[in-house]
Amino acid sequence: MHEMSLAMSIVELVATEAKAAGARQVNRIELEVGTLSGVLVDSLRFCFEAAARETVAAGAALVIREIAASGRCPACGVEGAMAGLLTDCPGCGQYLVLDKGRELRVVSITVDE
Ligand SMILES: [Zn+2]
Repeated sequence: MHEMSLAMSIVELVATEAKAAGARQVNRIELEVGTLSGVLVDSLRFCFEAAARETVAAGAALVIREIAASGRCPACGVEGAMAGLLTDCPGCGQYLVLDKGRELRVVSITVDE
């Protein structure tokens, strides 16, 4: 459900950037998506194609880099990979605090001028 609104905000952002750069066509958009961002990548791709139709971003390649989630234990400082938001510290059993893995951002846009 929220992939459509995400796709629309990405297209909007990209269109604004492209316009500022005087570009006619966006060729490539690179995104970083955290594994715990809750974004379904396949669904996002599908929605992006629909949202980009008849915009400068139509037909642009969507390159998605997944960022593996990891966190740190607030009690003992151990760092570990997080498969879910509630992941126990391997050392003391407290919940790890997410450090990265929830990001969703456009990192670069390649355009035709
Ligand atoms: Zn710990």
